[in-house]
Amino acid sequence: MAYSSKTKGPFPEQNTLESPGSVLKHFFGYDSFRGHQKDIIDHLIQGGDALVLMPTGGGKSMCYQIPALLRSGTGIVISPLIALMQDQVSALLQLGIRAGFLNSTLLPREAAAVEQHVLKGGLDLLYVAPERVMTEGFQNLLSRIPISLFAIDEAHCVSQWGHDFRPEYMQLSQLFKRFPGIPRIALTATADPQTRNEISKKLIMEQARWFVASFDRPNIFYRIILKDNIKKQLTDFLDSDHPGDSGIVYCLSRKKVDAMAAFLQQKGYHAMPYHAGMNSEDRAENQRRFLGEESAIMVATIAFGMGIDKPDVRFVVHLDLPKTIEGYYQETGRAGRDGKKSDALLIYSMGDMVFLRQMLGNSVGNDAFKRIQQQKLSAMLGFCEISECRRRALLGYFGEKLQEDCGFCDTCLGDVETFDGTIAAQKALSCIYRTGQRFGAGYLIDVLLGKDDERIKKFRHNLIKTFGMGNEHSEAEWRSIFRQLVAGGYVTVDQESQGGFKLNERSWPILKNETQIFFKKDPKPLKKTKRKSPIRRPKETWPSTYDPSQLQSGSSLGLLQALKEFRSKTASKKKVPPYVIFHESTLVELAEKRPQTPSALMGISGIGQQKITSYGDAIMDIIRAHSDAPGPVPGPPPKTRNPDKKTADPEKKKKKRADTWEKNWSPSNKATQTFVQTKIKELGTIEAVNHHYSEPSLIASYARRIAPAVLQGLNLD
Ligand code: ADP
Ligand code: ZN
Repeated sequence: MAYSSKTKGPFPEQNTLESPGSVLKHFFGYDSFRGHQKDIIDHLIQGGDALVLMPTGGGKSMCYQIPALLRSGTGIVISPLIALMQDQVSALLQLGIRAGFLNSTLLPREAAAVEQHVLKGGLDLLYVAPERVMTEGFQNLLSRIPISLFAIDEAHCVSQWGHDFRPEYMQLSQLFKRFPGIPRIALTATADPQTRNEISKKLIMEQARWFVASFDRPNIFYRIILKDNIKKQLTDFLDSDHPGDSGIVYCLSRKKVDAMAAFLQQKGYHAMPYHAGMNSEDRAENQRRFLGEESAIMVATIAFGMGIDKPDVRFVVHLDLPKTIEGYYQETGRAGRDGKKSDALLIYSMGDMVFLRQMLGNSVGNDAFKRIQQQKLSAMLGFCEISECRRRALLGYFGEKLQEDCGFCDTCLGDVETFDGTIAAQKALSCIYRTGQRFGAGYLIDVLLGKDDERIKKFRHNLIKTFGMGNEHSEAEWRSIFRQLVAGGYVTVDQESQGGFKLNERSWPILKNETQIFFKKDPKPLKKTKRKSPIRRPKETWPSTYDPSQLQSGSSLGLLQALKEFRSKTASKKKVPPYVIFHESTLVELAEKRPQTPSALMGISGIGQQKITSYGDAIMDIIRAHSDAPGPVPGPPPKTRNPDKKTADPEKKKKKRADTWEKNWSPSNKATQTFVQTKIKELGTIEAVNHHYSEPSLIASYARRIAPAVLQGLNLD
């Protein structure tokens, strides 16, 4: 039975299981609950209301999906993400869960079919857009069916202060008044106290029980560096830390998004743009490609990301400063949902700071709003400049205390030097004062360094006391000092003039020598500390997508590649992202454990009953086909052959060898390197090698990266 022409195939059966644990195992293929999941599920099953604060990737969706399966009636999930509803529902159908959605992408006839299905009691979960919930038609539907629960996803959309504000969320309280007594669960990953209060008030959930998880994302490495040559910094980072990985690069403006995406494409990366200025088809297409293709890099404004549940986003880069720590945390949180090591890199400059201060100053809105935004920006700037553990500061901002430094962020790993900057600060502030509180850092530094400059002479600033008084610091050091003064709120950026600095109440105690101030020495640019050829990196830092350290042998790597190909074919046939079929970690576990029976498959994390029914046979065929693959040789071409094996057709044999080679391909492997070297000689150019390895893009992308190193005559041993 098809409940909607957009989702084909037989419809799942009704759940007959009775405990949360058995539902978790049967449908999702997991053995145990995480954090508060079980408590939340029990609370809802018993009819309670819950407010859930959990970081991205924490496992929020199960908190309402499982109770909806266990309570009678249909669970109504209010989600603002129309573009992703279909994916979410397809993923649930893949798990054998009876789910459907109603939103404006459906034709009237399709929507009517879904409604009929709901009326017959055929759905356990119905996803719906907030604007539809409030229509008379939908409320009428609700009044005719048993409802198991209401889930309000992305509940922070109710907050007027946040950038995801959705006016329709404000009206949900009316819905709850009309349908009282039904358990409700509101979920968000936005953690600031103000948003929390707004959620519980506006959704009239003051009586609900709070479930607040730790906001720590231990697998994310936080790193903040200064802008130097942004394009080079970005490509260095991609090449040395994330060859072949998928990730997001955030920029502030649409123009910059387009420019950076074009730049990366031209350099051979699989990059694509996303911003609100693009037409909706292009945006949807790029989103689809990002979710579905290997090594995809999304260059985007913050319009991109909410609800993106791609588990293997390995890095999030900010090429401009986020305006708030909340934003930074949310955006970086899109990395590493699968729990594997991921990077959050922010590249910023003083120009960014000044620009944001001005932009917020000039924005529309009442003074209270502006003041809050300025405070939030100050916190963000302060976060960039700290010399303590970043994670401790980040969690501290959300009211969580980390007992020890994390040991997994740039400030923990690097040695940050500080110095007493009181005298330098006094000179800088005095220079601001004596030049009339209207100039920016560039001019002030010229004065401090006593530059021979027409403009300075014109204003007669070569005659003031601070002229030439700052020669003990270099120009770069002064820039850093001014930046830290701005970040710390010791000077105000003027909104009217071109970002001129002014003194404020925090400046005077320093000028009057009443307080001491410490500055951080600028860290060395990324390229000097991290610059290593990707080929020489130790195994454990290889990206998880091709992490040989996880797999014992080259033949496992070959099996993994075959499983990936199967996944990718199946995903495109079913028109869903590959991770909806299987997570990367599930494939790795399959390649490692090589289960031989359906019951053994059930022991693999992420494989539930429905996946076994759908793909069990195919997977076991693949595993069997690889059990006699050439031995555990890590890399191409296979050196051992089984003499007992009869290989009738030499063509077939050749093909098999070539296939095995591709599957065992690894850039750290000597044979691979020799091969690339030979190929370059044979084909002449990198482009030719590239072309030779046209899609699948992972191989192309490794070949591309390895080729320049080979050309430069690096020692590849
Ligand atoms: P959130 O909505 O909080 O960002 P999701 O609900 O999308 O997170 O879950 C994130 C990932 O964690 C998903 O891939 C999900 O399958 C997985 N997950 C959730 N709960 C568990 C669990 N108890 N055991 C194993 N994996 C889980
Ligand atoms: Zn740390």
